[in-house]
Amino acid sequence: MENESLKKELLKSLPGVDHIFTQIQKNMISNNIPRTVIIDSIRTCIEKIRLSILKNHNTLSSKDLDDSTIIYKVNTLIAKTLALNLKKTINATGVILHTNLGRSVLPEEVLKNITAVSSGYSNLELNLSTGKRGLRYSCVDDILCKLSGAEAAMVVNNNAAAVLLCLETIAKDKQVIVSRGEMVEIGGSFRIPDVMVKSGCILKEIGTTNRTHVKDYENAITDNTGLLLKVHTSNYSIVGFSLSVSLNELHSIGLKHKIPVMEDLGSGTFIDFSKYGLTKEPTISESIAAGADIVTFSGDKLLGGPQAGIIIGKKKIIDKIKENPLTRALRIDKITLSALEATLNLYRDEKKAIRSIPTLKMLLSPFSEIEKKAEMLNNLISNIKSTKLSATLLAKNSKAGGGSMPLLKLQSKCIGLKSDTLSTRKIEKFMRANNPPVIGRIEDNLFIIDLRTVKEKEIPIIAKAVKQITERI
Ligand SMILES: *Cc1c(COP(=O)(O)O)cnc(C)c1O
Repeated sequence: MENESLKKELLKSLPGVDHIFTQIQKNMISNNIPRTVIIDSIRTCIEKIRLSILKNHNTLSSKDLDDSTIIYKVNTLIAKTLALNLKKTINATGVILHTNLGRSVLPEEVLKNITAVSSGYSNLELNLSTGKRGLRYSCVDDILCKLSGAEAAMVVNNNAAAVLLCLETIAKDKQVIVSRGEMVEIGGSFRIPDVMVKSGCILKEIGTTNRTHVKDYENAITDNTGLLLKVHTSNYSIVGFSLSVSLNELHSIGLKHKIPVMEDLGSGTFIDFSKYGLTKEPTISESIAAGADIVTFSGDKLLGGPQAGIIIGKKKIIDKIKENPLTRALRIDKITLSALEATLNLYRDEKKAIRSIPTLKMLLSPFSEIEKKAEMLNNLISNIKSTKLSATLLAKNSKAGGGSMPLLKLQSKCIGLKSDTLSTRKIEKFMRANNPPVIGRIEDNLFIIDLRTVKEKEIPIIAKAVKQITERI
């Protein structure tokens, strides 16, 4: 009975929505917060307290019902409601093309162009020389052909869309021959056999997982063969007793039987990374030179631009693709297009591209630079002077990611955080809850901060996040 009366008393002293609203308005510095957001937040907070009174009032004190306590909670909720969900995040994973973290970081020049084009009207579909309606892809036609050596080009939403569109246009209801060694699945459920079904093509698998011969293609060709497809095994590698048919050989087979050859390059790059001591990735121009009729690749993998699917190749086929009604459903928007053109523009000068495209810069970053950043962070953390959290400088490897260069190990320098009183999982969670979130990786029971993917100006922010953790434990 005593319990019931205490409950009643607490419920009675719960302030009303109007009362809190007036209090909040009195103290509000700016009046920019929409009234509905304030009211909803007050309602939510009061309702929460009401429920806890009903459920477990023993844990509540009258202080929990104070105006100041409630107002504090309401303000926190308002801030949370108004904060945007998609936000800047610090990538301390060392994975350069991290799909969960948005893949490519765009260059300054690209950001400027996005603002310039999108802050007003643009000639997106207007041909400025004729005054007539133009094609939206035309702005990247010339540069794509120049950089790749292809006859024609067009762009869509992403590479998955590019593959789907090409298959549907070139080989709907026909047989498409693919080696079993190239039956790729990439993250996010893109699988070659499934895309084949969705595009209305009939998949003809040939060869074995590790070895496919020219004769396997030759033997599989029928009157209903519409395409020979080569898929770059971007996120895995078949090593040991293996054999695959080169694009050159595929081109000869295609020529002999009058069947087009397409290559899904996945990542796609204009730069020969072997020149810089990294793994050799087939370049886009090599694929065109080898005789591929159609080549598709992503805009936001090794290219370092915005999400896009780029299609280049023979004009006759590209013209057909442009007429496919699916194109309208997969089309690229003007923000992306302005970003893509500005990115491609940087490739006119390879040195400039490497200097200004963050993806390339991080990939080719000299070890000494990463080491310098690691030491900077280590110094800031050691100044924190906590006995509860320790930091160690570690030599580790980082990865290219984004389904590219799967075997590549990039020498990197990291900080490993550890605490006797806080689990590594909790450290990871606290860092993730930071504003901005700091995303690292857990290895050997340490929270690893890989400096390859961290910008210099982000280092003090990470140190501050670490300091806040030490204050909480
Ligand atoms: C990444 C990848 C794709 C999909 O590209 P998105 O731009 O992510 O749609 C398709 N094929 C291969 C081989 C890939 O590596």
